[in-house]
Amino acid sequence: MRKLDTKTIVVASHNAGKIREIQDLIGPLGFTARSAAELNFVEPDETGTTFEENAAIKAIASASASGMPALSDDSGIVIDALGGAPGVYTANWAETEDGTRDFAMAMEKVETALEKAGASKPESRTARFVSVLCLAWPDGHVEFFRGEVEGTVAWPPRGTQGFGYDPIFQPQGYEQTFGEMSAEEKHGWNIGKPQALSHRARAFKLFVETCLEA
Ligand code: IMP
Repeated sequence: MRKLDTKTIVVASHNAGKIREIQDLIGPLGFTARSAAELNFVEPDETGTTFEENAAIKAIASASASGMPALSDDSGIVIDALGGAPGVYTANWAETEDGTRDFAMAMEKVETALEKAGASKPESRTARFVSVLCLAWPDGHVEFFRGEVEGTVAWPPRGTQGFGYDPIFQPQGYEQTFGEMSAEEKHGWNIGKPQALSHRARAFKLFVETCLEA
């Protein structure tokens, strides 16, 4: 395990919602985040079939373009009744013909697929959000951190906070969807606090424990 000895880190993402969450999570640790979008790096094609492969593609591309350590997040929602779909293709389900992303449409697609699968009861709508962080150094060294949070797919969507599929994800043990939670509630994590809630905050906790703490 390699420790991180710099306070500037490139966030290897072009996704505004994700960049904001990553900044929220690393800011309190004293990091300055520069995003791949802000640095005008080309967004690489995510050709992998696992979260780890896609996270590595993004982090390695930004680390070699910047000469600085780069942190990526590859994430998605894995729905049991859909055989794990959309999984690594979570972002693709939101793609429209003109190349933009429409998450209201993506959430409708999920609901239509669940209806087709006959998954109407909460117990047949189990799902998890997965986040795999990859930290890549310019010399090619990589480390991975995986966070997951179990829950169910809610319908209709509820809440306007967060991003992406947040309005249809209800974490286990909570009455609210991620879309109805503030950022603090969704991540449920502060330095020194033992447990985190969101998949991303859980992965971040591992990243901090592995690469930052002595
Ligand atoms: P990626 O950029 O290929 O990793 O795509 C991840 C996809 O999963 C995006 O479409 C996001 O909207 C969705 N996603 C990942 N994490 C979250 C989350 O915390 N809330 C809602 N949607 C998420």
